[in-house]
Amino acid sequence: MATVRSVVPKQMLNPAGGYLTGYSHTLNPYAGCSFACSYCYVRRMPVALFRQEEWGTWVDVKEQAAMQLRRDLAKAKRKGPVTIFMSSATDPYQPEEAKAGVTRSLLEAMRDDPPEFLFVQTRSPLVTRDAELFAAFGERIRVSVTIETDRDDVRRAFSPSAPPIAARLKALRELREAGIPTQAAVSPVLPSTEAFADALAAVTGRVCVDDFFMGDGSGGKRTQALGIRGIFERLNRESWYGRDAYATVLERMRDRFGDSQVFVSQAGFLP
Ligand code: SF4
Repeated sequence: MATVRSVVPKQMLNPAGGYLTGYSHTLNPYAGCSFACSYCYVRRMPVALFRQEEWGTWVDVKEQAAMQLRRDLAKAKRKGPVTIFMSSATDPYQPEEAKAGVTRSLLEAMRDDPPEFLFVQTRSPLVTRDAELFAAFGERIRVSVTIETDRDDVRRAFSPSAPPIAARLKALRELREAGIPTQAAVSPVLPSTEAFADALAAVTGRVCVDDFFMGDGSGGKRTQALGIRGIFERLNRESWYGRDAYATVLERMRDRFGDSQVFVSQAGFLP
């Protein structure tokens, strides 16, 4: 269980940059993340490095977040179009959200004063709770659910505290049925079977494929520093840890979805 604390943020909208160039702002309802994925690039970022606690063992709940967001939104809109990526350094639907409801409160604030576009990135089936709120954004939203593999044994090896693959597939299906624009983010590519593309096609119409080398913000250096290669070795799947591994998955996805609905790395996360 993660240690949960409350913080009152001075700012909720932060300027976007780097991999998220294309958005004006990022929005993080929490700091920290109890899903604790082994490969999480946030582990190598200041928010985690300067903390005296292991990544995945702490979560800061942002109190009064919606009130602050309403102020930030009004201010940002005076300067130009606001496009928001939620979230860049946490999962907005990690377990604490079921109780704290910070993400839901932020969505309510944005429903009342909508940004030009909102991208929601999660790996949690709790996301379906807010389907009605997402619907209020019409085409100005996309909900992207991370599904790195169709093998739950592989998922358990890399992210044992994250939700099972079957629950994420079900969540994507429910969102699509509710008319919400969705995407499956195969990010990062992990060893999968040839049936993976079919499993995704049954629940969404759009896929983004990304890997450690394009998607960790450092050309793969952060992932290397985290010792992720060792997990591939323990699984006897070293060939999947390389710059070309994603090409296999990409080809399978393109065969199944068609080129126009398959995106590579950053392009899949743009507004
Ligand atoms: S869910 Fe996202 S933010 Fe949380 S540990 Fe995993 S990769 Fe990091």
